[in-house]
Amino acid sequence: MKLKIDRDVCYCSGECYYNHPKLFKMDAEGFPEIVVLELTTEQHKLEAEQAVEVCPSAAISVEN
Ligand code: SF4
Repeated sequence: MKLKIDRDVCYCSGECYYNHPKLFKMDAEGFPEIVVLELTTEQHKLEAEQAVEVCPSAAISVEN
């Protein structure tokens, strides 16, 4: 499973990287950067699901 971010709809609200710093970090422009390329642990999968749910622009998705 992998995280994906649609930068065209992300508006840099920061919920993902502030709440889930193990999965995301802020890049120089304020956009989220994915830190964990493969979601291999249950904790990572749970946090990824939470990030998808709270993103206000529905920019985050998880792909198999
Ligand atoms: S929570 Fe969504 S809109 Fe906010 S920075 Fe992350 S991807 Fe972008």
